[in-house]
Amino acid sequence: KKFTDGLKKTKDEFASKIDSVFSMYTKIDDELLEDLEDILIGSDIGVESTMDIIEHLKNCVKTEKLKTPDEIRIRLKEYLKEIIHTDDETDDSNMKTPTVILIIGVNGVGKTTTIGKLANRYKTMGKSVLVAAGDTFRAAAVEQLQVWCDRAGVELIANKEGSDPAAVIFDSVQAAKSRKADVLICDTAGRLHNKKNLMNELNKIFRVVDKEYDTAFKQVYLVIDSTTGQNGIIQAKTFKEAADIDGIILTKLDGTAKGGIIVPVQKEIGVPVKYVGLGEKIDDLQPFDSNKFVDAIFE
Ligand code: GDP
Repeated sequence: KKFTDGLKKTKDEFASKIDSVFSMYTKIDDELLEDLEDILIGSDIGVESTMDIIEHLKNCVKTEKLKTPDEIRIRLKEYLKEIIHTDDETDDSNMKTPTVILIIGVNGVGKTTTIGKLANRYKTMGKSVLVAAGDTFRAAAVEQLQVWCDRAGVELIANKEGSDPAAVIFDSVQAAKSRKADVLICDTAGRLHNKKNLMNELNKIFRVVDKEYDTAFKQVYLVIDSTTGQNGIIQAKTFKEAADIDGIILTKLDGTAKGGIIVPVQKEIGVPVKYVGLGEKIDDLQPFDSNKFVDAIFE
């Protein structure tokens, strides 16, 4: 239901265009596949993946002797599921604790909102959660984060504005240890001005966690805004060169008709999508599930 509502724009535009192609033809021919190719390329799926998909469908037609457009539609759906699936789809219901989650990403992608949603999710699962205000560069960042932490009913650890991010993380780790928190979620500043600085800033924070809390599991999640298309992919590649990233959180999928962006995100970046943002409310975050994703777009 969450996926269906959140992916409505993609379903209404992208999937219905595809379905109108299928309904135009009564038998399978090259023109059908060409039309399909045009639509796929016009979405954010990307040229390379589109070619791969069309090639796969042509093979299916040949080897399985497909007869009707509907049979192609079924193969398309199956293949989309296959290419966006990774073996790292999230099952956080039995997450290991204590865990420290570091959230990275540029400003505006939905970092603060996502931290609030994650805090709420883990709290609802019965975990004790602390949040660290590690983005000390933005004036309003701490206040916004406080609003989300209040909503989620979790405590925020923050220092004065302009203080060293690593110091906030240090204090937060001590608090998490002494209170035996299950999950510590750390915000970080998302300044992508240059790779060397980014790397240094992130490494400083990572070192604090490694050194001060070596018994905790560590996860680094990169937040990407799905409405930024190719820019998001480029951002992700830059972050990946600066840090070891365990997962991607793809936000604002409800705000775009180009949910096809999931294909290049899964195929080009080399980091699995762990969660998706499907709205602005606190429970509009879902663990990524390739089956549910494709089923929501193509009923
Ligand atoms: P930050 O600068 O990265 O911390 O971004 P914010 O968390 O402040 O979010 C920026 C804007 O994106 C806000 O208006 C949020 O409501 C919005 N936003 C974040 N996640 C989502 C999402 O999944 N769906 C939608 N529609 N909006 C989102």
